[in-house]
Amino acid sequence: MRKHIFNAGPCKLSDSCLENTSKAILELNNSGQSILEVSHRSKDFQAVIDEAVALFKENLNIPDNYHVLFLGGGASSQFAMLAMNFLKTKAAYVNTGTWSKKALQEAQLFGEVEVIASSEDKNYTYYPKGFKIPTDVDYLHITSNNTIRGTEIFEDLDSPVPLIADMSSDIMSRPVDVSKYAMIYGGAQKNVGPAGVTFVIIKDEFMKSAIKDRVIPTMFKYDVIADGGSMYNTPPCINIFALNETMKWVKAQGGVKEMERRAIERKEMLYAEIERNPLFRVTVEEGSRSRMNIPFIWAEGKEELQDKFLKFAAERNIVGLKGHRSVGGFRASTYNACSIDDVKALIKCMQDFEKEV
Ligand SMILES: *Cc1c(COP(=O)(O)O)cnc(C)c1O
Repeated sequence: MRKHIFNAGPCKLSDSCLENTSKAILELNNSGQSILEVSHRSKDFQAVIDEAVALFKENLNIPDNYHVLFLGGGASSQFAMLAMNFLKTKAAYVNTGTWSKKALQEAQLFGEVEVIASSEDKNYTYYPKGFKIPTDVDYLHITSNNTIRGTEIFEDLDSPVPLIADMSSDIMSRPVDVSKYAMIYGGAQKNVGPAGVTFVIIKDEFMKSAIKDRVIPTMFKYDVIADGGSMYNTPPCINIFALNETMKWVKAQGGVKEMERRAIERKEMLYAEIERNPLFRVTVEEGSRSRMNIPFIWAEGKEELQDKFLKFAAERNIVGLKGHRSVGGFRASTYNACSIDDVKALIKCMQDFEKEV
């Protein structure tokens, strides 16, 4: 039986993605070969990656003067790769939690970092708003959704300098005005596929502005990856296949507008229960609450129920609730493939537990 999966990443994927990827593992398109065996230079695989790029662009309404690239290395490699390419002297970073901090620490390997806004003062429980963006920096970097702390910004900022966003955990969960960004990137394993492929949406003009007088290894040059159609080297073929299946699913469900409608519904239902249930407390300030990651903690004095509740939930086929090891408590990750039924099962579990203790 399929469980109610609230994992933070890797996480739940659509049934159609799982079914079609399983079939392709056995045989891709009557080719007599598995997606695991087929050459990445074959017609069959070229069709897969072409469709994945096209649907990614279509779903997110990405303008023509942008490339969509698929790479290895995860979002964590992008932290360094983007700075290697674009940080000439100084870059501005907004520090909204663990991932932002990792991103800016990697950037410091290549130049000066100015933290222009931070929510560290309140343990990252809000998203800073209304900060002033300096004009003397090479770019501004933000993390649009903070997977660990559960804060999110829903606005596409107007930035006087190139805007770069780590959208690992909220990509494809709402319409985005891509034209406001120089680059958007992320690991696929939250909303667009399995772990092992990294997406980069990059404006052509920005890509061309990469630093010329720095030694950059070939594999870390965006224009080389773009010129090779994300196949300068062997790409993660099966991951791209599963990503494509996820893009088909998003489109068939009604696109990112529908993903957003569902995300808002899930979030409102779950937050309402956390606030109602006397056993639990929210951690994130209203107005900054993520639709994708919903952290909650025990009400005062209830902490000793932790293991009992996780066991109670597991008996009801609910998995993935344990908070990040750096935060504790709980976190329900409600990405695109998380259904209203999953959320209802969790709410019922919280209500039943309240009656039981
Ligand atoms: C998961 C995550 C990362 C790390 O992604 P990897 O692909 O594991 O490197 C970075 N940023 C955010 C916002 C994330 O959610």
